[in-house]
Amino acid sequence: MSDNWTEEELKAAVEAYVQMHSYETNGVPFVKRQIYSELANRFGRSDKSFEYRMQNISYVYSLMGRKWVSGLKPAKNVGSNNAAVIERQICEVEGQSLPKVAEFETKVISYKSKANLSKPNGIKEPEKTYSQVTNFNRDPKVKAWVLKEASGKCECCGSDAPFTTAEGEPFLEIHHLRRLADGGSDTITNVIALCPNCHREMHYGVNKYSLVDSIYDKLSRLVFE
Ligand SMILES: [Zn+2]
Ligand SMILES: [Zn+2]
Repeated sequence: MSDNWTEEELKAAVEAYVQMHSYETNGVPFVKRQIYSELANRFGRSDKSFEYRMQNISYVYSLMGRKWVSGLKPAKNVGSNNAAVIERQICEVEGQSLPKVAEFETKVISYKSKANLSKPNGIKEPEKTYSQVTNFNRDPKVKAWVLKEASGKCECCGSDAPFTTAEGEPFLEIHHLRRLADGGSDTITNVIALCPNCHREMHYGVNKYSLVDSIYDKLSRLVFE
């Protein structure tokens, strides 16, 4: 983001993005170019600059481990400050308060790319902060049923659970294919049991979308939401 965007402009872009995201997940047709040109007229910028901003918003969605609007490939030169603002605005517009990750992770990526990152001192006593986070009330029966169905094997790669828990259960993680934060249901047609590797990959992997497609092909109980 080379030039400075006002909070108002960013907010308008985020509102439009959240709207497109919801159109897409609900199968409502929309024309991206029309949305950019409306924004461009309103703020006196080019359509292209709004399209690029949308790709920055995709990048924040991807850091959040969420699905981005298809065709809007994440563009990463967003800056940690703007990433933090965009993440906050996404939560405001969606009316939910999710754990904040974008500012921290953009900083990690930028420090990591430094040729001469010296050994950091770290923080001996990290400061506590408190925030309200949106929780979703889930059905324990759904988790129980899916775990029984998986019977100790990852439903993605088929491997055995990596370890046994202190309670004597094979350790697998529960994943919602359409995320609860994206309006997904907590039902057995949207929930799978995964090993931790496959689970992380489904959120953050470069091939996460093809991985998700392969799961829908593989498990007949799943229904696309
Ligand atoms: Zn796996
Ligand atoms: Zn998950």
